[in-house]
Amino acid sequence: MSKIKLEREKCIGCGSCTALCPKYFEIADDGKSHIKGAVKQEVEEIEVEKIECAESAADVCPLSVFILKNKIMMIKLSAKLGN
Ligand code: SF4
Repeated sequence: MSKIKLEREKCIGCGSCTALCPKYFEIADDGKSHIKGAVKQEVEEIEVEKIECAESAADVCPLSVFILKNKIMMIKLSAKLGN
């Protein structure tokens, strides 16, 4: 499983993430990005099978609004921490 986290308070609503990854993102009524299927709040988070296009969305976001965690990242982190 992977995790997508979106810090909405930083979003400027440029629409790049929704254009590149409409599977997971849409622009909400307040003009900011929103994760489809997540509860609309300041910091949204969902677990998905695969990060897929969210990775491209994170790459183009001008404000680094996304935090992505996938299995490989988690394994590398725990290896670093000696777990
Ligand atoms: S790319 Fe970033 S700033 Fe632009 S709408 Fe998406 S989350 Fe907001």
